[in-house]
Amino acid sequence: MEKVVIAGGGAAGLMCAARLIGGGITPLILEAGARVGKKILVSGNGRCNLSNVNVSAEKYNVPEFAAPVLQKYPFEAVIEQWRKLGLITRTDEQGRVFPHSNYSGSVLNILLGAVCGAKVLTDCPVKSIKKQGNSFKIEHKHGTVYAENVVLACGSGAGGGVASYGLLSGLGHKVTPLAPAVTYLKTDAFKGLKGVRAKVYAKLHTKCGTIGDRGEILFRDDGVSGILAFWLSSFLARNNCAGELEIDFAPDMSREEIFREYGGRQGLLCGLLHKALADKLLREGGLELVKSCKANVTLADKDNQVVCGGADISQFDCNMRSLLHKNLYCVGEMLDVDGECGGYNLHWAWVSGMAAADDIIRGRQ
Ligand SMILES: Cc1cc2nc3c(=O)[nH]c(=O)nc-3n(C[C@H](O)[C@H](O)[C@H](O)COP(=O)(O)OP(=O)(O)OC[C@H]3O[C@@H](n4cnc5c(N)ncnc54)[C@H](O)[C@@H]3O)c2cc1C
Repeated sequence: MEKVVIAGGGAAGLMCAARLIGGGITPLILEAGARVGKKILVSGNGRCNLSNVNVSAEKYNVPEFAAPVLQKYPFEAVIEQWRKLGLITRTDEQGRVFPHSNYSGSVLNILLGAVCGAKVLTDCPVKSIKKQGNSFKIEHKHGTVYAENVVLACGSGAGGGVASYGLLSGLGHKVTPLAPAVTYLKTDAFKGLKGVRAKVYAKLHTKCGTIGDRGEILFRDDGVSGILAFWLSSFLARNNCAGELEIDFAPDMSREEIFREYGGRQGLLCGLLHKALADKLLREGGLELVKSCKANVTLADKDNQVVCGGADISQFDCNMRSLLHKNLYCVGEMLDVDGECGGYNLHWAWVSGMAAADDIIRGRQ
């Protein structure tokens, strides 16, 4: 009989395991993939944006659920946990936290070091989990194990992940509707601008309201990507709607300044904007479009970093413990908790993994 089985060796599962080991419990990690922590490596374009100084409950789709967890594990406590494990971080001007090395491999290597005492089985997807008396029977690809505690840390299908929500429903847990989030905004309006970046102010008008901010966008042939677009996409995902994107390509200049500067010499707009963008705006509407360029957008259903939806949080407490089954936990993205772009999703993976581990450690005392 295992004390703890963790299904899924991703960000949340590994942090949970590291914390358990720190508390004197050696878990068994069952990982579906050939290796653990694969998504950590690709995160943040290989740099792993692992947290954000601006973390708060409002950065998540379910602030009332996230609040007590973030209160118990404030930003400083998470950074301290990383420091204790051996990872030094640095913060950029937008508050995004990265490993000091600027290399996601550092985060994974530190986690692997922290869990080296754990038993890890890779290429070992969990197929079913059943409650049997006071313990759990876990069937995986290579056999059956029994455990006193089970932590579900299977993440989502985003970024080539394995969607394992059936494990939740098999245990009687509800799964809320799934939708891509932190993805690009789909539109044909910017065809021909693929690869062009711009620092803009963009607003998204939807039937559920308007949001807007400054940031960077990156055009693709089939839409608008980049950090600002990712942030806007979470709003679309949460409200299940389409919208109209309105971009101000020169947020530091007024309309009057633009016309004064370029009114009589539009050909020089390439001195303000990328030439391909300048040419397109002039072709399709003139200088007016510099301050207000509008396009209808929908949520892209591919290349998403996160899935919105998952284990219904009304059936879990702030220690990530199931209200249906004693000693069952669910952590990370498998829960219906998704954050904005900027390090908030990994931050959630760490704090939820820590909360579950600490609850298990407390239960043993
Ligand atoms: C390209 C990309 C870039 C990203 N960049 C960032 C970023 O910079 N900052 C940020 O905050 N977030 C980022 N994210 C999101 C972030 O990576 C996830 O939110 C986070 O990894 C979720 O952690 P998790 O442990 O819940 O799930 P995962 O990290 O996905 O781990 C789940 C693990 O469970 C395993 N698994 C699944 N089913 C089973 C099963 N049945 N049995 C056993 N194992 C199973 C999977 O193989 C996987 O290893 C990014 C995502 C992607 C795709």
